[in-house]
Formats: sequence, structure tokens, C-alpha cells
Amino acid sequence: MSEDQPRSDDRLEEEADDEQTVPDGSEATGTTADGAEAERADRGAERESPMNQDLPDTTDPSAGTTADPTAVESAGADPTTAGSTDVDRGNGPDVDLDDVVLDDGDSKGLFDDLLSGEPIFENKEVLRPSYTPHELPHRTEQINQMATILVSALRGETPSNILIYGKTGTGKTASAKFVSQELESTSQKYDVPCEVEYINCEVTDTQYRVLAQLANKFIEKNHALIDGRLDHLRNLRREVTEEPARLGDTDYDSLAAVEDRIEELETDREEMETVPMTGWPTDRVYSTFFDAVDYHERVVVIMLDEIDKLVEKSGDDTLYNLSRMNSELDNSRISIMGISNDLKFTDFLDPRVKSSLGEEEIVFPPYDANQLRDILQHRSDVAFKADALTDDVIPLCAAFAAQEHGDARRALDLLRTAGELAERSQADTVEEAHVRQAQDKIELDRVVEVVRTLPTQSKIVLFSIILLEKNGVHNVNTGEVFNIYKRLCEEIDADILTQRRVTDLISELDMLGIVNAVVVSKGRYGRTKEISLSVPIDETEAVLLSDSRLGDIEEAQPFVQARFDN
Ligand code: ADP
Ligand code: MG
Repeated sequence: MSEDQPRSDDRLEEEADDEQTVPDGSEATGTTADGAEAERADRGAERESPMNQDLPDTTDPSAGTTADPTAVESAGADPTTAGSTDVDRGNGPDVDLDDVVLDDGDSKGLFDDLLSGEPIFENKEVLRPSYTPHELPHRTEQINQMATILVSALRGETPSNILIYGKTGTGKTASAKFVSQELESTSQKYDVPCEVEYINCEVTDTQYRVLAQLANKFIEKNHALIDGRLDHLRNLRREVTEEPARLGDTDYDSLAAVEDRIEELETDREEMETVPMTGWPTDRVYSTFFDAVDYHERVVVIMLDEIDKLVEKSGDDTLYNLSRMNSELDNSRISIMGISNDLKFTDFLDPRVKSSLGEEEIVFPPYDANQLRDILQHRSDVAFKADALTDDVIPLCAAFAAQEHGDARRALDLLRTAGELAERSQADTVEEAHVRQAQDKIELDRVVEVVRTLPTQSKIVLFSIILLEKNGVHNVNTGEVFNIYKRLCEEIDADILTQRRVTDLISELDMLGIVNAVVVSKGRYGRTKEISLSVPIDETEAVLLSDSRLGDIEEAQPFVQARFDN
């Protein structure tokens, strides 16, 4: 996101091609940050001992209890338990796994200890970001504000555009999805044509993609509508052929008119060509979307979640184009609901876009510790077994998350992770200590993720600092880092940046909280920067070495170390 120059959409699209295309369903996981967290959690598990890996949900009663015959079979197939397993019983419907795996007390398998622990969770899914709660305490005001604006859609009028602001984890996505579900279900109840389209712009982050996704969704809806009408007309045609008098009850005055209409609809259907994920000129995508929405009368609310990411990556063309559509649409009307984590993102918008988009603004303030407690309490009643949490757990999770700008996602992550840690350590209850461990683990996961996604040059700079520290050189200065950096670049055949650029990279690492660089005065020698590592050294080194582009650095290390030896 750094050195992006103004580019044409088409080019962006070509590049976007090799990005991961995330299917629509993934929107349920909320932001990509959620996805990254999940991914991080997975990697975290890989790094740790096998005992720490997520259990196949055998501890989750809802996902098939220990009596599940398939669970028994796989335990039986496991070489570590094979000796103790009575395979025939394993196939029996009412077998008790405890009997199977604990039959032979001496040779306990890898999973035995884990399975015999009393489960802490009743339903862990409820704590995951992908779960949409039915109740959102402390968001009634914001939800009512949205509803008051959007109710026009149910009256066939165009609702004002809405801009929603708030830091991450303040419930914006959850509230918006809740309101959109209510809106759609009410519109079905009263049979008014009102539709909501949700797009996560962190995933769908170019104009081409946003328009293509919208176009294809509406084409799909139009197809369904046309198919319904065609079914009806084909039936009518059959009935009228048998009994021409039937025409009397319809809008058609002849069989030929029915046939014409069928043909017309068939042509419409064929002409609606779905947009490929890449390759068309943007105009064509736009007009395909335009025609698809305008195919019949309806009010459409387009929710653009993480809209700041779209603007950051691709500018405000999409918003400009969407916001001026109403003046050209004949049958339908669209209304935009933008959701942003960045309170200042409208500073980058064209003034026309800014005033159109911000017709109504709703702010989601951070939660305080008491509110976070309520939120956690609601979820934990469903997520955990009765009495699985000691009294301090929820208040502590709430307090930690309140420090993280009142982030409910963080609070839920902490609670879930604390529960998992308790489960893994075979504790009967989740204790305060598990919450503290969870806090450390989440923080380490964050560091790992930041380091993993650094550009290669920054990784080499960071590795230089690590090498220095490992050789007992603390509070190093830029010159020392630069010397090692140069040496490493030579060893692995990387471009060597100037010392000035390296200084910039160090400042970036400082801003990311990976190193700490303080300016110290050296008397008449002027001022210099003293750099120290602010993250755990071994974990960070391991992440750096896992990058294939840096793989060779391990062999280069001895050369560098030699410098210190003599
Ligand atoms: P945002 O979109 O503002 O970053 P989300 O809506 O994704 O935040 O919320 C983050 C997590 O916290 C989600 O799992 C969501 O279900 C939960 N959450 C947020 N606010 C509430 C609330 N008021 N009640 C219950 N859960 C909430
Ligand atoms: Mg969100």
C-alpha cells in the first residue's frame, strides 16, 4: 500500500488476479483481519507442540460426542492406540470411547489425555468472529439510527446514504448485518422490492471487483426472477393450448402474446452475461451492473464494509460512480452505506463524493470495560459449560480489551483463547492465569504476523539487529546495523540499499513496535540512534528464517559471527 502510483483499473485487475479470490461466503468471517487472525492462530498451533493443536471437536458435544463411532474408529486407526483398541467394539453404535482408549492403562496415545479432560466449552463457535450474535447489547442507539434512515426503502423511497465510523471491534459489521437481515426479512413480509448487498472491501478492493461482484449478484437475482416468471408462463401456455378460455383471467389476449413474452424473457436472460473476475473494460462492467440493477423496480442498499480500504487501495472512483447512479436509473434506486474503521478517511475523498456519501453519519464509540463485560457475559452463557469460568475471567478480559481501544473482537479472542489454554492444560475451570497467558499469546501472534509480512529488505535489516543482539551487542547504532546488513545482502545476493534508506526502514520497524530506537546525545560527536529489539528474539528469528527468500541467510550467519569472534 506504500508506493502505489495512480494506476488504471484494468492494470489493477491484472495484478489482482494472483491475489486470493475469497468466495462470498467468507464475508461471514467479517474482515480479513479476522481471517488473518484465524490463520495466525493456525500457524501458532503449528509452531507449538502437537498437544497444543486444536482438537478435532471431539470435546465439543454439539459436534458429535465421544460416543461418535467415527471418532472411535480414527482413534483405533491411530498407531499409538491401535494396540489397546477393540476394533469390533469401535464399530458398535453405543461404544464408550473412554473404555476404548483407556482399556490399556499403560500405553496412552497422543490424544488420550486430551480427550479425557472435561470439556470447558459448550459451543466454542459462539466466540468466533464469524458468529453473528442475535443480540447486540449497547448498540441499540446506533441500530435504531440505521433503521430510522433505512425504513424509507420499505416505503419505496431512496434512503439517504449513510457513513458509519468507529474503531475496529466496535460492532459496526455485526450491527450492519443485523439491520440488513431485518430489512430484508421485513421487505419480504410486506412484499416490497428492497434488497441489501453486503461487500467487504478489504477482500473486494478494486472498482472492477466491486462492480463485478454487484453486477453478478444482481444478474443472479434477475435470473431467479425471470425463471420464476418463465415457469409461470410456460404453464400458462400449456393450459391455454388445452383450454383457450383460460386466457380470460390473464393479461394476455392471445396465445401468441404469451409466446412473445416467453421469448422476450428468454432473450433477457441470455443477454445478462456475468462479468468475469478480470478482463473487461471498467465501463462495460459498470454498464452491466447498471442494467442488472435497473432491470426492475427496487430499492437497493449497498453496504460497503471497510470502505476506507477500498479508497486507500483504489481511490474514490467507485464511490463517485455509485453515488451518481440514481440520477440515471429508471426503475430502481440505490443507497450506499459505507462503513469505515478510519475516522479521517473522508479527507481523501472528492468533495462531491464526500457530501453525497456522508448525508447521514453514525458513530460507533469504543466500548468501555463494563460494556465489554456485558457483551462477554451474553456470549459466554452459550459458549461455556456452566461454572467453567471463575469470577475474575470476564472482568479481566474486558479490562484488557478496554485498553485495546475498547475492542470487542479482542475481548472475545481473549476469552476464547483463555478457554482453549485451560482446556489444553486440562484445567477444570478457566482462571485468571489463563487470561494472562492468552493475552501474551495474542500479542506474540500479532508480532509474528507483523514480522512475517514485512518487505524483504526490512526483514534483512531486522535480522541484522537480531544478529547483533545475539552476539551480545546491545543498543546498537545505525552504522553497526548497516555494516551487518550490507554483509548479509552480499551473502544472499540481495540489493543493497543506502544507509539512509536503511535508517528509514529502522524507523518503520520502530513505528511497528518491533524495535525501539531512541536518539541519544553523544556530546560533541553529535546525536545517534540506539536501537534495541522490542520483540522476543527467538520467535522473531524463526519467523524471519521461515521466509524462503531469507533461507540462505542461515548459511551467511557464520560469516557475520566471525566478525565478532576476532
Ligand atoms: P467492527 O466491524 O466494528 O470491527 P465487529 O462488528 O466485527 O466490529 O465486532 C467484532 C466482534 O465483536 C464480533 O465478533 C461481534 O460479533 C462482536 N461484537 C461487537 N459488538 C457487540 C455487541 N454489542 N454485542 C455482542 N457482540 C458484539
Ligand atoms: Mg467490521
